[in-house]
Amino acid sequence: MSLSRIIKQLLLILLLPALALSAEGKEFTVVIDPGHGGKDAGALGRKTNEKTINLAVAKQLRDLLMSDMNDVNVIMTRSNDTFVTLQGRADMANRKHADIFISIHANSVDKKSPMFTSVNGAAVYTLGLQRSETNLSVAMRENAVMKLEPDYSTTYEGFDPSSAESYIAFEMMQHANLDQSIELAEAVQNQLVRTAGRKNNGVRQAPFWVLVRTSMPAILVELDFICNPAMEKFMASEQGQKKLALAIYRGIEKYRKVADKPADSRKERVVADSRPEELPSSGAAQSGSETIAGKKAESKAAAAAADAKDRIVYKIQFLTAGSPLRKGDSRLKGLSPVEYYKDGNMVKYTYGSYCSQAEASKELKKIKKSFPDAFVIKTCNGKRIK
Ligand SMILES: [Zn+2]
Repeated sequence: MSLSRIIKQLLLILLLPALALSAEGKEFTVVIDPGHGGKDAGALGRKTNEKTINLAVAKQLRDLLMSDMNDVNVIMTRSNDTFVTLQGRADMANRKHADIFISIHANSVDKKSPMFTSVNGAAVYTLGLQRSETNLSVAMRENAVMKLEPDYSTTYEGFDPSSAESYIAFEMMQHANLDQSIELAEAVQNQLVRTAGRKNNGVRQAPFWVLVRTSMPAILVELDFICNPAMEKFMASEQGQKKLALAIYRGIEKYRKVADKPADSRKERVVADSRPEELPSSGAAQSGSETIAGKKAESKAAAAAADAKDRIVYKIQFLTAGSPLRKGDSRLKGLSPVEYYKDGNMVKYTYGSYCSQAEASKELKKIKKSFPDAFVIKTCNGKRIK
């Protein structure tokens, strides 16, 4: 063997582990969350129940992903008929650093509803600010399972899933991954209509606990209505389950194609009812700070304001990190939009832009619930002065 061949072989041996590692690093992790399980049957049909349908569709989806998508890593929050807490499901996805989280459910309405046996259609939910009584009632029903946990008020910090007031705190939380979640939701919803032939009830927003507590693009799929006997029959059949799983699979496939493109080539999203007048006023000068996860419109306004001289803006500093965090990092606890500035070797994260100390202090009270050490800073032309 010539010396150069030996060197080549040696190099190959040395490089192999690195190559294997980088291939592994590229893996796309999907967490599939079949809703309910064990003592929690979910919504009831005449012949079957929600937990059984959710698991069957989830397993079909898992098998499809594993056989047809070669770089994917699939994790199920449950793969048999067991009870898993809502927080446990979200924790699992966060721990595994999932790229996407897909919760699978079947819908239902109150028995007294005149639509009980006729209501139908699929809907995909993301977290968000769109307010609707109907959507909230779906989330309340799905969140109610936490009451089956003996110490639920401790785990969920006093949150009462059946009280509308409990959800008000979520209104200020805009998921860091909302754009991507909506992208995924739209892709899956389209396929539920095209591939699985479901009536289109659209992409909706509601505060489901599993969506609140996951720190990656996350959706909750309501396949169809189990209270409608014809829809139950479809969802209980193997053929129906295969179609539903294929629809979600194709949605994921489409989402991944779009997600691989650079962000600015993607369409800008407008979320209905986001009540922009209640968002923190923008207008911070951007020199010395880089906006991440900020809305495009806000950065435009900020850029326009950058011309103004000696602009004083108050911000809430809530986190210090050694390096910039990726979008959706769990340390940001879903707070968005956020900005950061560099201070020596550290990166300091801020939220909001306020014209007065009083305005900032008012908002600080809310932020302190998630970040007890948060405080208000004063900036001049984007640089901290106090
Ligand atoms: Zn459910």
